[in-house]
Amino acid sequence: MQTISGQCSCGKISYHYPAPALQVVACHCSMCRRMTGAPLSSYVVVKQAELVLTRGQELLKSYTVTSRTQRHFCADCGTPLYNSNQETYAGLSMLYLGTVDQHESLAPRMDIFCENKLSWLTTSDSSRHFEQTPRKP
Ligand SMILES: [Zn+2]
Ligand SMILES: [Zn+2]
Repeated sequence: MQTISGQCSCGKISYHYPAPALQVVACHCSMCRRMTGAPLSSYVVVKQAELVLTRGQELLKSYTVTSRTQRHFCADCGTPLYNSNQETYAGLSMLYLGTVDQHESLAPRMDIFCENKLSWLTTSDSSRHFEQTPRKP
């Protein structure tokens, strides 16, 4: 069974998740694009209750992006570690794929908000594409 581990770029915060990912998503929405500074954003979805910070808990800060969305990041190096959304995605943490050690084996299974996808960006044909989101993510 694949477990998940990861850390921020300075290494002061690290995390562990004892189970396989629930979902792997590439998001093309304009909010994520601004928030991350990247043309698309990739997330590994896990259960919040089972995500364990193994180091640096005291450095984890949160930024309220919208009334529903929070971004959790390292206060020292600024690396975003995960997002949460207690309304739409209650109980879930969306780990930033780039912080996950197992990123090579976690290709996105779905691309969401493709209506906002940059026209020059090439994405995988093997993932399912949605104009916005599926009813059950
Ligand atoms: Zn850091
Ligand atoms: Zn997004």
